[in-house]
Amino acid sequence: MSDEPLLRVENLTKHYVVDDTRGGRRGAALLRAVDGVSFDLAAGETLGLVGESGCGKSTLAQTLLRLVEPTSGHVYFRGQDVLAMSRRELKEFRKHVQVVFQDPFESLNPRKTVGQIIAEPWTIHRDLVPKSKWRIRTSELLELVGLRPEHLDRYPGQFSGGQRQRIGIARAVAVAPQLLICDEPVSALDVSVQAQILNLIHDVQLELGLAVIFISHDLGVVRHVSDRIGVMYLGRMMEYGDESDVFERPRHPYTEALISSVPVSRAERQAAGPRRILTGDLPSPVNPPSGCRFRTRCWRAQALCAEEEPLLQAQHADDPTQVSCHFPSGALSTTPGLQPSQ
Ligand code: ADP
Ligand code: MG
Repeated sequence: MSDEPLLRVENLTKHYVVDDTRGGRRGAALLRAVDGVSFDLAAGETLGLVGESGCGKSTLAQTLLRLVEPTSGHVYFRGQDVLAMSRRELKEFRKHVQVVFQDPFESLNPRKTVGQIIAEPWTIHRDLVPKSKWRIRTSELLELVGLRPEHLDRYPGQFSGGQRQRIGIARAVAVAPQLLICDEPVSALDVSVQAQILNLIHDVQLELGLAVIFISHDLGVVRHVSDRIGVMYLGRMMEYGDESDVFERPRHPYTEALISSVPVSRAERQAAGPRRILTGDLPSPVNPPSGCRFRTRCWRAQALCAEEEPLLQAQHADDPTQVSCHFPSGALSTTPGLQPSQ
């Protein structure tokens, strides 16, 4: 068995050139949507990718799929360099990596029946399912996502938001992918259906052995379905580790603040320290703060934080969690002389 990860992302960067009208003059500026993100994901694992709206989660997903070309960095899928793939290899890669989008009203063609929608990927990847088997396979997929075979001949308009998201999930897994990227899959749904769709994605993952990247602005949403948690802020990964470890022992002040905003157990609340309410807006990714990007909203920030950008790294050799902070929680005693005043 090789211990090569299913997905390896190395220093991935996506900068957009945008109009810059600051100071009354017209010019161009760089918007750092994703700015040097690295992580590994093992087969069958779920990564919950969280952070406020605008911090680069969707751009990260689009770049690693090459739906938009990254500015720099590397993506390896089962060891293969995604950015060096030929058209044919890319087609194969996109069969293995499927996406479920936020808006189940926009992502399904209203003029096609559910059966046609689910079978659509088989018209692109022709070797997957022979046409004679389409009807039976689409029925099985509908059943997998909790819908009934008689729904096959209906149109998306005849379904609720939650049911449409089920159809989107059936279509995504129709090609037996190894990685499913769900970008805010429940954000457009009523709260009452959100848990059903989350559970469905989790069940489907276990049934099919998929790895999942679960993107949400809400840590509470991803927590119960994630093995790993990645916390993003202004295009950077601030903390990356096992779900239980990140919740029980958040190292980054931004993670502490996110945990403060979701309902957690009393033990976790105590571990997380005092409740932190984030104040101030997310700074612009065009001109992110110098040094640590979170320092303008951070209650532990010191002079060093404005000068040097902290690297994402483990605090010591057997720490499973990586953090990008000069003053992570629980590590204050190891940096004498640099202790921030509370
Ligand atoms: P999230 O998914 O975390 O809400 P996004 O990845 O959508 O964040 O956006 C990250 C940043 O990149 C935002 O500031 C957004 O305005 C900007 N952005 C996204 N797409 C483009 C684009 N095509 N051109 C310019 N800026 C973009
Ligand atoms: Mg997004």
